[in-house]
Amino acid sequence: MINLHKLTIHEAQDRLKNKEISAQELTRAVFERIEAVEPSVDAYITVTQDIAMAQAEAADKDISENNIRPLTGIPVAVKDLICTKGVKTTCASKILENFIPPYDATVMDKLNAAGAVMVGKVNMDEFAMGSSTENSGIKVTKNPWNLSHIPGGSSGGSAAAVSADMCLGSLGSDTGGSIRQPASHCGVVGIKPTYGRVSRFGLVAFASSLDQIGPLAKDVTDAAVLLQVISGYDPKDSTSIDKTIPDYRAALTGNVKDLKIGIPRQYHTSNGMSPDVLSAVQNAMNLFKDAGAELVDISLPHSQYAVAAYYLIAPAEACSNLARYDGVKYGLRDKASASLVDMYQNTRSKGFGPEVQRRILLGTYALSAGYYDAYYKKASQIRTLIKHDFMQAFDACDIILSPVTPSPAFKIGENVDDPLTMYLSDIFTLSANLAGIPGLSIPCGISKNNLPIGLQLMGNYFAETTILNAAFCFEQATEFHKLRPKL
Ligand code: GLN
Repeated sequence: MINLHKLTIHEAQDRLKNKEISAQELTRAVFERIEAVEPSVDAYITVTQDIAMAQAEAADKDISENNIRPLTGIPVAVKDLICTKGVKTTCASKILENFIPPYDATVMDKLNAAGAVMVGKVNMDEFAMGSSTENSGIKVTKNPWNLSHIPGGSSGGSAAAVSADMCLGSLGSDTGGSIRQPASHCGVVGIKPTYGRVSRFGLVAFASSLDQIGPLAKDVTDAAVLLQVISGYDPKDSTSIDKTIPDYRAALTGNVKDLKIGIPRQYHTSNGMSPDVLSAVQNAMNLFKDAGAELVDISLPHSQYAVAAYYLIAPAEACSNLARYDGVKYGLRDKASASLVDMYQNTRSKGFGPEVQRRILLGTYALSAGYYDAYYKKASQIRTLIKHDFMQAFDACDIILSPVTPSPAFKIGENVDDPLTMYLSDIFTLSANLAGIPGLSIPCGISKNNLPIGLQLMGNYFAETTILNAAFCFEQATEFHKLRPKL
């Protein structure tokens, strides 16, 4: 008897289609798994068992009528900043703890139309600000590989739930690495699509010019399947782009012969890097060479300013986006305040956690009169230079290979009092968001203390197929994606 919760999406699809299993059995198996391991992992904020069982029943009916859609009967988890009609969407913040959206995000419409089963809403850093889920206002998610370590963030719940087999795949969001970094720390695949590929309508905004929704999955094929479903133009998101969606799964040939892989000088240094990460990335480079790819030396000289630029632009956008939480329209309201101004102040002081308050202060400062030119404008100029670096690099190569993070997952509590160290660990992921290009993380090693290590592949605009295919080639030649935590 196989453990159904362990199946990948494509394995489950085959069995559902052949009627070897039913969607209801599969969904029940996932909830049994949640019951067994969720008390130690804490990945979920809300579990939606009733909705899931009803969707699974409908899926079984569809299957019996041969109406099989791209995700019919597949149990997925959704990051808790994606609006779900009638289901709490908290952004892991006290200010939205009881917020129930009156509408679905476009990606939810797409999941529903594809026949997916929603298992629940998963934990994250409050408003997606963080790299560990320790900034969640609800609870801290644990890394399924080692419960005393962080799962990464901000999509820590999305990554931990996939890694611990508490769903078959999930959606996360990536503003500066929040899909790739937790995927890397939890040993799963995560892809941040090109900015504009996936609709942001109904995604609670953190930094609108950087945010992008994407999938986390057990392997590359599953990531391709999920990306296919959520991609596409949406008139409700003015930044979404009307461009043909390729068949992502069909592009997975595993052939990388003559593919030019750029190795950015600046990203491959031993400075501040864990030796385990360095050697895993080096092994990956050798593997690609053996598979027929050509490694080319490239330079991304302005990446060294990515942390500084990102931590001005993201907070600047966040402070305006978060101005809407004022206790008036929805969410928390401090009812005891005597005046309107007190009510604003008390609501926001009680409702936002320390990291969110820090970002609002940073952003407000950076945008204030007299400082705008020195900070925000300068950061925007650097952003343009970073983009130019990539455009130049893609004249010489097809994809770019780098680490995802300087080290494997750190211990819970290790960096909470040191925001700067936390920010610096985003060094390899931020540039892709600043430029708007796609990037993915795939498992490429295990550290000496038995924690997963991820490999980052970045591509040119809308070259998701190229990075997915290179990742697929790597996956075919390795076993890392098959390793699961012992829980
Ligand atoms: N760690 C980064 C931050 O704290 C990125 C977060 C994200 O991608 N949402 O802002």
